[in-house]
This record gives sequence, C-alpha cells and structure tokens, in this order.
Amino acid sequence: MTTTLLRGRLLSFRRAPLSLADSESYIYETDGGLLIEDGIIAAVGAYDDIKAKAPEDASEIDHRPHLIMPGLIDTHLHFPQMQVIASYAANLLEWLNTYTFPEECRFVESAHAQRIATHFYDELIRHGTTTAVAYCSVHKTSADAYFAEALRRNMRMVGGKVMMDRNAPQGLLDTPQMGYDETRQVIADWHGKGRNHVAITPRFAITSTPAQMEATAALAREFPDLHIQTHLSENHDEIKFTCELYPEATDYTDIYARYGLLGPKSLFGHAIHLSEREADAMSETGAIAVHCPTSNLFLGSGLFPLKALSRREKPVRIGVATDIGGGSSYSMLRTMDEAYKIQQLLGERLNPLDSYYYMTLGNAEALSLADKIGTLELGTDADLVVLNAAATPAMALKMEVVKTLPEELFLLQTMGDDRAVAETYVAGVAMKNGL
Ligand SMILES: [Zn+2]
Repeated sequence: MTTTLLRGRLLSFRRAPLSLADSESYIYETDGGLLIEDGIIAAVGAYDDIKAKAPEDASEIDHRPHLIMPGLIDTHLHFPQMQVIASYAANLLEWLNTYTFPEECRFVESAHAQRIATHFYDELIRHGTTTAVAYCSVHKTSADAYFAEALRRNMRMVGGKVMMDRNAPQGLLDTPQMGYDETRQVIADWHGKGRNHVAITPRFAITSTPAQMEATAALAREFPDLHIQTHLSENHDEIKFTCELYPEATDYTDIYARYGLLGPKSLFGHAIHLSEREADAMSETGAIAVHCPTSNLFLGSGLFPLKALSRREKPVRIGVATDIGGGSSYSMLRTMDEAYKIQQLLGERLNPLDSYYYMTLGNAEALSLADKIGTLELGTDADLVVLNAAATPAMALKMEVVKTLPEELFLLQTMGDDRAVAETYVAGVAMKNGL
C-alpha cells in the first residue's frame, strides 16, 4: 500500500456558503495533515493528530504555507478546441463556422487526437483541474483518445462523442443511427473503465435533426445513469435559429424537454438568456446551467444571471466551467475572476467563498459526484490542488497585507493562474511537477 502524508493549510467546503461570514460552510485547518492511502483520503485533521496515526513508512510532503484544497473541477469544455482558443470572431455562429468546425474535422485522425489529448491533460494538471467534463469531436477516434489518456493518468473524467447530423461541414456529420451506435460503443469501451464516465453528447439542437434527437432520447432512456451534456441559450441569433428549426417547441429549453433530456444529470452549457418558464423547467427537473464566463465575454454572448438564478423561489442548479476554446483560459481561478466581474456588471456580489465552493464541491454536486470528488472528506478520491497565493512578485507583495482567508482566496482568484498552482495530485500522485 502507498501511503502519503501531506502537511499544509487545508480548506474544504461542507455546503454552499450563505455569506462571506459563513465559516460553518467550510473546514479550515491552519496546520493540517492529510493521509492518503492508495489514492483515497484515509485521514484528515490537525497535523499532529494525523501524524500520530500515520504509519512510520508514510512518505511526508510539507506544503506549508500553501493551501491544500480538493482538485478543481471544470464542468464544460471542448477537447478538440485547444487550437481554436484565441480565434478572432464576431460571435458564436461565425466562430463555429470559421474556426471551430474546420479544426474539429482533424480529429478523424487518431494520431492527431492522441497528440492533442496529451496536451489537454497536461494543461488541466498545470492549472490544478483534476476532473473535467468535455465534448470530444463527432469522431469516435477523438473519444477513444480522450478516455485512453484519462485512463493512463488515472483521472476522473467525464466526456462524450459529439452527435451532430446537420448544419456543419460533411466531415463533422454522423447520422442518427451512427451517432447512436457509436455512442453505445464508446459507453461499452470506456464507461466505468478506470475513473471514466461517458456522457451522452448531442452538440446542440441546431446541429441535430429531430431524428437524431430521438436517437439521443433513446440513449437517455437506455442509460439513465449517464450524464447528458449539450448547449442552451447562449446567444440571441442562436436562440432564434434554434427555435425556427423546432417550431413545435414552446422555447429552446422545451426542445430538449420534449426529448426527455432535462434531468438531474443534464448539463446545459451557458443558459444565459432563459425565460422564467425555462428557468422553472430547469429547476423542476434538477437540470444544471453551466456558467462559462470567459467564453461568454469573449464571444459577447451575454451576462449570466448566476445570483438571480440561484436565489429564485425555484433555484436553478449551477456549475462553472472554462468552455475552452470559446473560453480564453484553462484556469478555474481566471474563470471565477471573470464570473465575479459579470456579477459586478449585473449589480450583484459573488464572494470568494462562493467562488471556491463552485470550483470544488459545487461542481461535484452539479455532477452528482460529491461522494467521490470536490471535498477532503474521508474515503473520497485524493484529487487535490496546492495553491500558492504568493506565486508571483506582485501577488507576494499583496500577500503582505492580506489578513484573512477570504482575502487570500480573493487575491488568488483575482491575480492567480497556473503559476499559483504549486502542485496537483491525481488519486494521491503528484502530477504537476513531473510535467
Ligand atoms: Zn461549449
């Protein structure tokens, strides 16, 4: 058995914070010990207590004065868009047609998909992200490359082969039957292998015919435990076009509802411009709106009403994500900095406890995986990030006047990026410094 004892300041959320003063919402050990046995958290608490329990041959790593937290979780991004990031486009539909679709065509070649997969996981680890939920391309080769690399690194990853059968170049189209068959094959090949989770992944209603949506509905019925991911209500032109394609539906959300795709494991990227009826439908079914702030700003898509949706009488469940390559940073710290600014523009406050809750336990709850990831609870996966709030000269200078934990968290979020990630542990194994 491999046993590792980590020492540092430990921070883990118990539940969503009610306010910045809500110190009951998290556990904070100023001199903490975390014992890892075979990739699982075996003991956690004050360092002296944990040290006394630890076997003599445990290897010990001292991360003081850094902060040890659950690994960050990214609930929406696109694995084939690593070379689409930073493309100069006016809006979503232009960006898709000009840059994204041509790039995704290259993933028919497994050598290309494997090369990008290596870079993809390197970037996640570099940025402290230990679980992510990704769209692959329409090609099964891309899903194979994505899951094989996750398995090789023993990461807990969610992903799916995209299904799309219209409104895209020929090289990116499957058919209803092919999308169904290949998704079944990806499930058979990868779901539950290592820590892999396969998601049913119709790209969005614009690129799926009603026949393909029927096939998606069949998959959702046959595999009710799987995640479902798609896009919803990102931009006004997209919404208008989508509703023209499905004139029988009441609104954009109703299209997915008609095919049985709204539920507690359904992740809807963006969901910026929802009507009250749509927000009610999301809330009643437990569906998750995934906020992608850097992407929404980059593509000029709109300001996601995070606070307003979460305090409704019927609250909408929320996840947060980078949306690479519409998003502009792999860093969840950068992501929450932009989320904060979007709430500022809406006249709302997103406090730093909220941000760190969302990046960890909140996203784990959004994925129904809080029993495995997102906290430092006993028995959960030892997927961890070690954060250094004095990682750059400018951050170190600011740290001289920081007095409280929330102030430190806010500094990390406002100025931090991959440089602030001192180490990333995947199932108890230090991965970042080996890159
Ligand atoms: Zn997306």
